[in-house]
Amino acid sequence: MSAEPDGPEGRLRRFATIWSRAVYPVTSTSLTRAEFEEELLPLARRLSGLLRAHSFDAEGAKAVGAALVDAHCTDPEALTRTLDCVDAYLVLYCGEEDPEAPQDAPRLRSSRLQHALAAGYAQALRERTLAEQESIAQAALRAQGVVAQALHASEARFRAVFEGAAIGIGIADLDGHVLQVNGALLRMFGLSSQNLRDRRVQDWVHPEDAPQTWKLYEELVRGEREHYHMEKAFNRPDGTVLWTNLTVSLLRDADGDPQYQLALMEDTTERRLLNLRLRYEATHDALTGLPNRTLFFERLEKVLAAGEGQRFGLCYLDLDGFKTINDSLGHAAGDRLLVEVADRLQSCATAPGEMVARLGGDEFVALTTGPGTERTVDELAERIMTALITPISIDGRDLMVRGSLGIVEGPAGERTAAEVLRSADITMYRAKSAGGNRSELADPEADARAITRHGLTTALPTALERGEFFIEYQPLVHLGDGSVRGAEALVRWLHPQHGVLGPDRFIPLAEHTGLIVPLGRWVLEESIRQARAWRERYGEETAAGPLRINVNLSPCQLSHPGLVQDTVEILERAGVAPDALCLEVTESALIGADDDLLKPLRRLAEMGVDIALDDFGTGYSNLANLRRLPVNVLKLDRSFTQGMQRFPADPVDLKIVEGIVTLAHSLDLAVTVEGVETGAQAEQLRVLGCDTAQGWYYARPGPPERLHDLALMDATG
Ligand code: C2E
Ligand code: MG
Ligand code: MG
Repeated sequence: MSAEPDGPEGRLRRFATIWSRAVYPVTSTSLTRAEFEEELLPLARRLSGLLRAHSFDAEGAKAVGAALVDAHCTDPEALTRTLDCVDAYLVLYCGEEDPEAPQDAPRLRSSRLQHALAAGYAQALRERTLAEQESIAQAALRAQGVVAQALHASEARFRAVFEGAAIGIGIADLDGHVLQVNGALLRMFGLSSQNLRDRRVQDWVHPEDAPQTWKLYEELVRGEREHYHMEKAFNRPDGTVLWTNLTVSLLRDADGDPQYQLALMEDTTERRLLNLRLRYEATHDALTGLPNRTLFFERLEKVLAAGEGQRFGLCYLDLDGFKTINDSLGHAAGDRLLVEVADRLQSCATAPGEMVARLGGDEFVALTTGPGTERTVDELAERIMTALITPISIDGRDLMVRGSLGIVEGPAGERTAAEVLRSADITMYRAKSAGGNRSELADPEADARAITRHGLTTALPTALERGEFFIEYQPLVHLGDGSVRGAEALVRWLHPQHGVLGPDRFIPLAEHTGLIVPLGRWVLEESIRQARAWRERYGEETAAGPLRINVNLSPCQLSHPGLVQDTVEILERAGVAPDALCLEVTESALIGADDDLLKPLRRLAEMGVDIALDDFGTGYSNLANLRRLPVNVLKLDRSFTQGMQRFPADPVDLKIVEGIVTLAHSLDLAVTVEGVETGAQAEQLRVLGCDTAQGWYYARPGPPERLHDLALMDATG
């Protein structure tokens, strides 16, 4: 508002300015000084009015005092300064310019106004203070209510947690008296609250307590430790054991002095059982229940780590011909056989320090420990070999079970478990190579020379590329006239380090790795090429016409899709007629074979290729089954011939062979016998009606030139 500086309005403004400058520094307003001045201006006008009013208006002055309080001039200094200001300047700037007015009247009025203003101010201030106190009190009251509610809620929540927790909670004093426990804890212990409270914490000693258990407890109740954590067992009243994950904490009072102990426990009984169960399953063989390779290694390692004077003896057993049983009787029968073998082995190793384990497949180990294992391991081996003698009866058949056993014996602390097992494996293999059904003792020199299966497996692929394989031929002789009718191709591996290896060493490995397919194709190619060479050289010179070639086929080759086409191509390329070839398939590979598997053989048979059932009589096959198979030759297994070595031969053996020959002939099958080693055997087999024979009596497998000589010999001789 603009005003003439010397007019009444201008002077009023001056008063307001002075007043505001005096009071502003002691107010707690958020206004600027100019804004504050604008706020005081109406009050100044009011005072001015009151000064000049006809009669004194105390209420009006009080109202100005109250307004000051409202304007946040609540500091007592603000009042003092206001009164000073009014006293000094109100009359000066706002006084009446009426000359007739009494001289001291305005001063008197000013002074009365000041009193009233002060009174109004004081009253307003008191009211305001009271109001503030009131609202604080009320707020406090309200807050108290809220806090009480919150406390209540938190207590209720705590109770709910305490009671509803799945975890067991208990509180005890420092003497071990149980004060409070929750439902979960009672359920875990299978006790009533009273029963539990009757016992002290120290009463819960368990034989399986870890050694430091009660030391930690003492430290806690003495206040030297805030908490501890452990697995602890408790005896339940029903005699069972409760296993817990236990955490005990010390509770202190407000001054920090130990007051209670708080136990939190989680029931781990089932988890523990499960862990034990899992550990058991991880360390035991599911089929036989024997310890498995993992557990055996753990034990062996422990034994080998034992101190001086300790020795160990290990028997490594591999069943002979188990694959045949599995292939011909099925896996279920194979499994039952393994279970029976496992039971028998287990009963061989019952002394302390002895253990039997299954390493996998048909491989078992027996371990003996202690100071005198030089003697005990031999006894153990003998018990094992004896245990296998009695045939095992499965599905009404008595199966002969034989095994090859490798024995390693020695002092602890010299070799690792892996080295010991390798030596045992090599030794077992030596027993197997020597014909099986025997045990051999480990020999460090033989070990050093030994060829591991692993080493051979890795060397196989390059061996084919490098031309390390070669074929020997063993003649097939007609029993009636003694003429050579053909030869069986038998593959060998000229290993750069180990010399000549027989097929039993590497054919299973080649089958396992799939290399058997290219290897088999190579054998077929090579031997057909050889058949062609014989023919070119001797033509039809031999007495019985052209020489024929027998080639062995693995089960893997049988199921290989290229078999028929490969064979046809190889024959055509060599210009050899299909009827010059006989493929030998083992009996076990064909038993249970479905039509899909037989189809390629049937195709080949239709083309004129002969199919021979090799090792006949070892596969427990059903003779009636023979009719289904596309075969035209039976090759009687060596075991039949062996039975005729004695003289006179076992009449039962003779009857069996006679029966087989009769049956084979009635099915239009020719019969070949293997393993003929003596003239007596040859004569016997001839009388029984066998058609052809093969064996050392005629010739060992040898280079192709040898066959030329033989064939030529009987052509000319
Ligand atoms: P197989 O087909 O039954 O071969 C006959 C085995 O008996 C040969 O063993 C032969 O050397 C042996 N033998 C021959 N006459 C006598 C004898 O009078 N007395 C004794 N005790 N044994 C005799 P080899 O050469 O060790 O072959 C073993 C097996 O390896 C063969 O049994 C055959 O199943 C397999 N095999 C050989 N060559 C091949 C091949 O090229 N491919 C496949 N898949 N398997 C082959
Ligand atoms: Mg054969
Ligand atoms: Mg054979």
